[in-house]
Amino acid sequence: MVKRTGSTLRRAVRLAALLLLAAALVLGARAFLAANPRHDPWAPLDLRAERGWATQVKLSRLSGDTARCHAVLSRSEVAFTALPAIGEGACLRDDRLTLDTMRFAPGFPQMSCPVAAGMVLWLEHDVQRLAQQILGTRVERVEQLGTYNCRRMYGDAGAPWSEHATGNAIDIAGFQLADGRRISVLSDWDNGEPAGQFLKAVRNAACESFGTVLSPDYNAAHADHFHFDQGRSAMIGACR
Ligand SMILES: [Zn+2]
Repeated sequence: MVKRTGSTLRRAVRLAALLLLAAALVLGARAFLAANPRHDPWAPLDLRAERGWATQVKLSRLSGDTARCHAVLSRSEVAFTALPAIGEGACLRDDRLTLDTMRFAPGFPQMSCPVAAGMVLWLEHDVQRLAQQILGTRVERVEQLGTYNCRRMYGDAGAPWSEHATGNAIDIAGFQLADGRRISVLSDWDNGEPAGQFLKAVRNAACESFGTVLSPDYNAAHADHFHFDQGRSAMIGACR
């Protein structure tokens, strides 16, 4: 009888210790997430903050939720102009905007809000940092080949619709630098120079911001540009 009471007591003490440990862990995790909202999947996304563990989850939630996506741009103080719906069927673009201050050449491509959010993260956090580190200058303009094209993939009538059909994609051909240099995917990708290193680094970084990233490493059709789209989450997307 005495023996059994002793072991019951020991079990109760062990259980209480485990409960206390669990409570401490929960409180610790809560305090950590409150101090680091970029790691908190429930905290609102702010594109000005450094990337955190939860950034990709938050980015993927923007697909199909234009109101939430516009709120993220506004909260992040990104200037944009939302445009009315246009097109029909598979090429209906009911999520269409231009970024007002981001410098593209040619300027103001119309893109979906999730593509815009990815572009802001990629340009502000990755492209400018890598340009400083590798090239010692800033990017002045991003050369783009277009966002919208009402077509199926590979121009094949039996293929699924391209993300370009809804403007949920963008093609990037190169960069104009503040010191006057120009870097192009076509001529600098494999040149073994800092320009080539920069292109590979920004391609890799884009995989954190976009669901699908295709580069010259993917196929000959992408020898002269990067293709970025938000058709799927960056957590399960392609990065080639
Ligand atoms: Zn493309």
